Amino acid sequence: MDTALHRPAASPPPLAETLDRLRAAWQRQRPDHAQRMADLDQLAVTIRAHRESIVEAISADFGRRARVETLAADVMVTLEEIKHVRRHLRSWMKPKRAPINPLFLPARGEIRYLPLGVVGIVAPWNYPFQLAIIPLVDAIAAGNHVMLKPSEFTPRTSALIRELCAAVFPADRVAVIEGDASVGAAFTALPFDHLLFTGSTAVGRKVMAAAASNLTPVTLELGGKSPALIAPDYDIAHAAERIATGKLFNAGQTCVAPDYVLVPETQRDAFISAYLAAVAKRHPQLAGNSDVTCVINPRQASRLREWLDDARQRGVAIRQHAPDDGTQAPGEIIPPTVLIDPPDEARVMQEEIFGPLLPVKGYRTHEEALAYILGRDRPLAFYPFDRDRDRLERTLDTVVAGSVCVNDTLIQFGQHELPIGGVGASGMGHYHGHQGFLTFSKAMPVMHQARLNGMGLFDPPYSKLIKRVLDFLTR
Ligand code: NAD
Repeated sequence: MDTALHRPAASPPPLAETLDRLRAAWQRQRPDHAQRMADLDQLAVTIRAHRESIVEAISADFGRRARVETLAADVMVTLEEIKHVRRHLRSWMKPKRAPINPLFLPARGEIRYLPLGVVGIVAPWNYPFQLAIIPLVDAIAAGNHVMLKPSEFTPRTSALIRELCAAVFPADRVAVIEGDASVGAAFTALPFDHLLFTGSTAVGRKVMAAAASNLTPVTLELGGKSPALIAPDYDIAHAAERIATGKLFNAGQTCVAPDYVLVPETQRDAFISAYLAAVAKRHPQLAGNSDVTCVINPRQASRLREWLDDARQRGVAIRQHAPDDGTQAPGEIIPPTVLIDPPDEARVMQEEIFGPLLPVKGYRTHEEALAYILGRDRPLAFYPFDRDRDRLERTLDTVVAGSVCVNDTLIQFGQHELPIGGVGASGMGHYHGHQGFLTFSKAMPVMHQARLNGMGLFDPPYSKLIKRVLDFLTR
C-alpha cells in the first residue's frame, strides 16, 4: 500500500453531495455481518502496517508526542476496540427475546438491532487518531456509513486518517472531511442519522443546536473539570504517584485527566512535595526528553501561561518542576506546575485546564470536599482515593460523574465494557464496546402477534366479559 503520507486533500468534497452519496449507497446495500467484519479486519491490518506513520504524524503535529503515549493511547486502544468488537459482533447483532406482558400471551417480543444510516463523527486534536477511529469502528460495527471530520489542529494526522480510510473503505462507505471550525459548523448542520461529537463543552452547545434543526440525535463527548479527592487517611505518596501519571500523560491534554486535587488541608503540603517528587522522577528533564509531550501549539501554551499569570496576580503560591537541560524543545513546553489553594475566581478554577497545571486545594471535612464537587458542573471523570469502604460507598452514591476510577487515574478509559460518556455539561450518551454498537443502532422492538389471541375482546360493542375483566384488573 502507498506509504507516501500527508498529501493535502485535493479540495474538500462538497458536504451535502458527499452525504447524499453515502446515504444512497447505504440504501442500496447495507453492510452485513461479513462486510463489517472484513472492514474492521482490514482497518486493523492497515493501522498495524502504518503504526510508525501514526506515531510520526502525531508527533509532528504536537511538536513532540512521546512515542509510548501514541502507541498506548492512540494505536493500542484502537486495535483493542476493533478486536473486542469483532469478537462480539455476531452476538450483539442477534435479535434478543423480550418478555411479553402476560396479558398479551401467546404473542412474543424481540428487539432487533438495525443500523441507523449515515453517522457523522467530529473529533478533537488531543488523541487525534483514537478519538476519530474508535467512534468510526463502533459505527461501522453497527452497519452504518460514516462521514468523519478530524481536527484542523493536527493536519498531518488528519491527512493520514483520510488516506488510511480511503485505503480501507470504498468512497461511498466512509468519507473523511478535513477543515476548520467553519467546516465543522457546516458538517454538523447536515441531516445525519446520528452525530457523535468529541470536543469542548462550548462547541458542544453549538453542535447540539445545529443538530436540533434536523432532529439528528447526538452523542456529545465533552470536557470539564475532573476532580481527584484524597480521603484523610489515604497513602499520600500513592495518590501523588497516580495523579502525576494521570496529569503528565500527553502533557495533561487528556479529557479525563485529573484537573484539580482536593486533599485534607493538614496533608496538603505533604501531597505537593510527594507530587513534585513523582513528577521529577518521571520527567527529570523536559526540553530534551523524548518522553515529554509538548503542548499542541503556541495558542494553547499562551492560554496556559496566561492562566498562570492570572493566578500569580491573585497571589496564588505556585511551585514548578522546571529543570533546564540546556536544550531547545522541539515544541511548546509548559513545566508541570502546582497552584496552591487558588480561589474559585482564578481562571484555573473556572475552566478545564487541559495542560500540566495542577491546582491543589485543602479541605477540612469530607462533606465540605463533596459539597465543593457537587456545587460545580458534573465532571467527565472523578478520582476518589479512599480505602474506607463505607465512606467510598457514600461518595460513589453522591457524586454524579461521566466515569469514576477509584485509587487510580485514566485507566477506566481503556475498558471495553465501561462505556465512555459524560453527564450534564460533560456530555451525553456513550460509546465503546457494546454500548458503542447500541449508540449507532436502532434497538427496534418487534411484537409478533399469535394467530390465536384475545384482542377481539377489545372491539366494540364491548362485551360484559371485557367489562368484568377490566373491572377485576383495575380494582
Ligand atoms: P473543540 O471543541 O475546539 O473542537 C473539536 C472539533 O470540533 C474540531 O474538529 C473542530 O474543528 C470542530 N469544531 C469547532 N468549532 C465547531 C463548530 N462551531 N461546529 C462544529 N464543529 C466545530 O475541541 P478541541 O480543542 O479539539 O478538544 C479539546 C476539548 O475536547 C476539551 O474540552 C476536552 O475535554 C474535550 N475532549 C473530550 C473527550 C471525551 O471523550 N469526552 C475526549 C477528548 C477531548
